[in-house]
Amino acid sequence: MTTHAKLNQHYQQSSEHNHSECVSEALGTAEQLCVERGVQLTPIRHKVLELIWESHKAVKAYELLDRLKPLKQAAKPATIYRALDFLIEQGLIHRVESLNAFVGCRCSGHQHEQLLLICKHCHEVEERPAPDVMLALLHEFKQAGFMVHSKAIEVHGICAKCLVNLSHLEL
Ligand SMILES: [Zn+2]
Ligand SMILES: [Zn+2]
Ligand SMILES: [Zn+2]
Repeated sequence: MTTHAKLNQHYQQSSEHNHSECVSEALGTAEQLCVERGVQLTPIRHKVLELIWESHKAVKAYELLDRLKPLKQAAKPATIYRALDFLIEQGLIHRVESLNAFVGCRCSGHQHEQLLLICKHCHEVEERPAPDVMLALLHEFKQAGFMVHSKAIEVHGICAKCLVNLSHLEL
């Protein structure tokens, strides 16, 4: 497969998709997991998760507050932060440290290592499990005698969808 064909295939997978399916799947999984774990997905936590899932873009806490305010006038930053803490704890969202923003987790439900590909053009974040990369890193940490607390790797660049769009513009 040529690089361009690969890009196009990826473009179809990642962008020309029915996002409402992503949302209902993410919310459905969250509801089910919270029941299984005996934790409360309160209306406010549910709403914050839904707001994060409005897109695959990383979203900042104050943006969430802006979106929540029209629905819940009494919402304060602390309301958002408490909900975010819960959602992170339950592995339903990720904190994108380098952006100080949050994104819905596509493989919710278990703590996992992540490679986050962050597009500087559209701000979408793609999560990839990248087991080979993680294994190689583990080896490095061992060699360094380094105890790791957080193993998320955040890479900034331009996503396949934007690359395709940009290359169309150039033609
Ligand atoms: Zn989607
Ligand atoms: Zn994840
Ligand atoms: Zn992009």
